[in-house]
Amino acid sequence: MERNQKVRAMAEKTKLSLIVPVLNEEETVASFLDESTKAIEQAMELMGPAATAEWIFVNDGSTDATEVVLRTRAEQDPRIKLINLSRNFGKEAALAAGLDHATGDAVVPIDVDLQDPPEVIVQMVQAWLDGAQVVNAKRVDRSADTWGKRTTATWFYRLYNRFADQPIPENVGDFRLLGREAVTVIRRLPESSRFNKGLFNWVGFKVETIEYQRAARHAGQTKWRAWPLWNLALDGITASTTVPLRMWTYIGAVIAGLAFAYAVFLIIYTLVLGADTPGFASIMVAVLMLGGLQLLSLGIMGEYVGRIATEVRGRPLYVVASKVGLED
Ligand code: UDP
Ligand code: MG
Repeated sequence: MERNQKVRAMAEKTKLSLIVPVLNEEETVASFLDESTKAIEQAMELMGPAATAEWIFVNDGSTDATEVVLRTRAEQDPRIKLINLSRNFGKEAALAAGLDHATGDAVVPIDVDLQDPPEVIVQMVQAWLDGAQVVNAKRVDRSADTWGKRTTATWFYRLYNRFADQPIPENVGDFRLLGREAVTVIRRLPESSRFNKGLFNWVGFKVETIEYQRAARHAGQTKWRAWPLWNLALDGITASTTVPLRMWTYIGAVIAGLAFAYAVFLIIYTLVLGADTPGFASIMVAVLMLGGLQLLSLGIMGEYVGRIATEVRGRPLYVVASKVGLED
């Protein structure tokens, strides 16, 4: 009986899918395929003779030769598959497209620029075969990232974890192994402002963590700009907590209390000592402070309401223009 169960569990761990979002990466694709093939072959040895693998490239609206390069590779090797999105939808949506098309028993989202070292996949697969359902990869050394990116990341994790209902482990990116159970759950999540790190972590299951060093980008340029990253941070926070929305009740209560006390003081003061010079300054201060607070809290409302609007529209996360090596 136990043996049978073990055999069945093994049988369900035979296929590995890599999901690779790409945006203008003509320079990096070839070396990524070389490196990742080596790692995947080692991982497949661990998985036994029935092991197979696939590479799902999601072309996120590249304007260079990325599509041509990938098409050629996909035609040469049926394990390489390509989804062309109709425009740039962002990495989060590209990953969702990949997750929807991956057929592996385990799925590994990975950057094409070799900043997520493919050899770590071998350890991930080992942990997965040993029973983990999700294997996180934690960057122990981010010195390859710029100072600005590192500090903002640190602050983001701190702020996020202080308020989020479900904290996320620091320095674990999208690069991780997701077992089929986790993938099924993630695909069912309906939200359209995707914050994958939060979602991947939210699903739970048996999690194992592996540490690695984050390398420098192999070639080409980073596609991240500060503004989209800031929006991703906002998505992350608004998707995971309503604290910024609710805290205004308390701040408002405190300010109202202080204002009331001040009013009482003014009344007594005027009754005892008579009217002062017209209080232009104090009125201005009160007006400005309250006005500022109101605008701020309205802004926070706007963040949430804006996201509610996006969710209600219910648009698809991405639009597929064409596929290579995948059926419809
Ligand atoms: N990427 C994408 N769509 C985007 C931005 C990035 O598919 O809108 C891909 C990119 O091609 C790469 C991965 O996401 O494979 C990570 O991007 P990048 O290396 O530029 O980000 P960084 O490592 O600097 O955070
Ligand atoms: Mg990178």
